[in-house]
Amino acid sequence: MEAQNGQMTAYRPFFTQQGRRSYWIAGPCSAETRDQVMRAASGLSNVGIDLFRAGLWKPRTQPGNFEGVGEKGIAWLLEAREAYGMRICTEVASAAHVETVLRAGLDAVWLGARTVASPFAVQAIADALQGSEIAVMVKNPINPDLKLWLGALERIARSGVQHISAIHRGFSVYGKSIYRNPPLWSLPLELKSQHPELALICDASHICGSREELGDIAQQALDLGYDGIHLEVHPQPDTALSDAQQQLDIKQFKNLKNKLIFRDKTSIDSSNKALLESLRRDIDRLDLEIIDALQERMKQAESIGSIKRAINMPLFQAKRWNYIVNQYYSKGRSAGLGDDFIAQFLKALHEESIRQQRQVLHRPDLQVKKSS
Ligand code: PEP
Ligand code: MN
Repeated sequence: MEAQNGQMTAYRPFFTQQGRRSYWIAGPCSAETRDQVMRAASGLSNVGIDLFRAGLWKPRTQPGNFEGVGEKGIAWLLEAREAYGMRICTEVASAAHVETVLRAGLDAVWLGARTVASPFAVQAIADALQGSEIAVMVKNPINPDLKLWLGALERIARSGVQHISAIHRGFSVYGKSIYRNPPLWSLPLELKSQHPELALICDASHICGSREELGDIAQQALDLGYDGIHLEVHPQPDTALSDAQQQLDIKQFKNLKNKLIFRDKTSIDSSNKALLESLRRDIDRLDLEIIDALQERMKQAESIGSIKRAINMPLFQAKRWNYIVNQYYSKGRSAGLGDDFIAQFLKALHEESIRQQRQVLHRPDLQVKKSS
């Protein structure tokens, strides 16, 4: 991402222990009562977390639902910090929220998915954060738009905030899914490849929308090298005023946390390093062979394109394509490739092959045969 001076923004690591263990953020979706906040904080401090969360201002999709207790919940969070010695954070969606939070001295804030989708709102928050030392976490926007996410991070960085991290909470997509917000992993991974120094946290709760897949999603994130996990935890989830279905109780959280395996990014001994390097060289060679094979395949497709042009035949031949598809599925499956991969690969291959054949069909140096 380009900053004003043409330099890429490099984000400071948010966590001092980055790389050695997972960073844990947990707490109720919403702060509801003093008692509920204190019970959640007490239970979570026994399990051990790094940052306690609770929403005070709740962005609800529809009006008439619980919209948060607002400013009065600040005192509960401060009391929880005092009693259990843990850092506290909440969501901010406006400059007024930021001012309240800064006045109270919270340790961190996050920008929610709906807010991040609006550059005006993000800029107003960034302006209000100017000069503050608070840590800021930026969720992905509700829609799968990497530029919007990068733009929000950049706006916050330009306001001088030092400690910035990103939270992946899944995306709102059209169509059915087992997830409330499908993860679309390639998007956060693209963010991470553009900014390896940026801490990336997985909010499994808002991805899943229910308790069932939480462990699976969180483990997938850790397997991919995420820096932290965010989970919603409530002392009595079934009575929660928001997101009741996805919140864990303290015991469930403890069990899940103990089960998850964090992939240590810092330790590698020299013999494994050498082995890894040699396997990577093999992969590089195979990738080059794949490119060569694809080039060869495209050349043949091009020649077929010129025959089709000469005899004025349509590019798409259903029977032939079905044969190719069947061959890919039968060979691909027995080679251990997943159906989703085969489908995506075939789609890409077909589109590229058609694109190249169409170029042949419309090359001006060749005479077009008119149909009679
Ligand atoms: C939340 O964290 O409670 C929240 C509202 O999240 P999101 O912005 O991801 O929907
Ligand atoms: Mn929530």
